Amino acid sequence: MKRFVYADNSATTKISKTVLDSMMPYLTDEFGNASSLYSMGGKARLAVDTAREQIANAIGASAREIYFTSGGSEADNWAIKGTAKAMLKEGKKHIITSKFEHHAVLHTLSSLERDGFEITYVDVNENGIVNPCDVEKAIREDTGLVTIMYANNEIGTIQPIKEIGAICRKHGIPFHTDAVQAVGNVPINVNEQNIDMLSMSAHKFHGPKGVGALYLRRGTVVHTLINGGAQEFGRRAGTENTAGVVGMGVAIEEAVKTMESRNENNRKIRDYIIENALKIPRSRVNGDMEHRLSGNVNMCFEGIEGESLLLMLDYNGIQASSGSACTSGSLDPSHVLLSIGLPHEIAHGSLRLSFGDGNTMEDAEYIMSVLPDIIARLRAMSPLWDSIKENEKNVH
Ligand SMILES: *Cc1c(COP(=O)(O)O)cnc(C)c1O
Repeated sequence: MKRFVYADNSATTKISKTVLDSMMPYLTDEFGNASSLYSMGGKARLAVDTAREQIANAIGASAREIYFTSGGSEADNWAIKGTAKAMLKEGKKHIITSKFEHHAVLHTLSSLERDGFEITYVDVNENGIVNPCDVEKAIREDTGLVTIMYANNEIGTIQPIKEIGAICRKHGIPFHTDAVQAVGNVPINVNEQNIDMLSMSAHKFHGPKGVGALYLRRGTVVHTLINGGAQEFGRRAGTENTAGVVGMGVAIEEAVKTMESRNENNRKIRDYIIENALKIPRSRVNGDMEHRLSGNVNMCFEGIEGESLLLMLDYNGIQASSGSACTSGSLDPSHVLLSIGLPHEIAHGSLRLSFGDGNTMEDAEYIMSVLPDIIARLRAMSPLWDSIKENEKNVH
């Protein structure tokens, strides 16, 4: 029987009921400006302060180090461009990153490259992990920033953040991590893990869209990106998104509280799907199985196009993704799959399923009841598959 399955939690998540309820007062009667001095503003101010505490607690920071933004993209832009501007004053122009960052980081860096900055893109190994030694080797006299993502948004691999952070600290270089996929899914402590700047986004952990935060370690020199009023300790202008930040605070608290049970549930779903989908001929899993987000499945099936697979899954009620949401719609294969060494023709046939709150083993069983047939049907229509079979005959 057809079933609706949302399996794209890395693209965005459903807002939780408690989060929505916590936001409602600030969208209705408590609409005051958090920076106003009368009592209605005071209530909004208290709500914003509480959310700041909740977020700080979730990553082992202090509230004064949390700055609200419009989401993960703004946090990444701010950390990188704000540091770049500070670097100029010191005569530094070199930044280190990895080849498989989110576009919010990669495109920000290419804009800096056009302004004369030099970027080193360190390799990712075939399992989707950055080697801290490669980061260290890339360090130059004029390196002023290292930015490496915490968990990859396509293949879910978790990076050795603490080790990379330790290297940066040893060399006196600020370390930023895009932790948008990690926050709420893995335990984070910015002090133990030597993190100076960290980006997060509420809608990736069952909070509202359009709100995120940047953690800035006390003393980190970062120029302002959004100029204007004196909000966010004078470092990020704009009237506070009271309802949004309240929702984000409640969402992060919930995510941390339910982390263990959610991870256990997601791991079962993930492992069941991978184990069974690997029985499909000419299939493979992308990314390390050990250092991996519990809810991430990323596989390739030779001889098919990811886009056709998504349409067929959608027709069967399954919402999934091929590569990242930002690249679907273009025919280029994912830069993440290319970075782990997959050839173009294989990278094209990729599928990402990402699970979150609300997914069940019934979802997993339903997916596996339709996936093998869909792949067989697509292959039967595929000229690509014909030529693969032809080559096989010639080899044997
Ligand atoms: C979703 C995502 C972003 C962008 O966050 P927004 O809040 O949607 O701007 C950045 N980095 C990673 C790794 C993401 O998954």
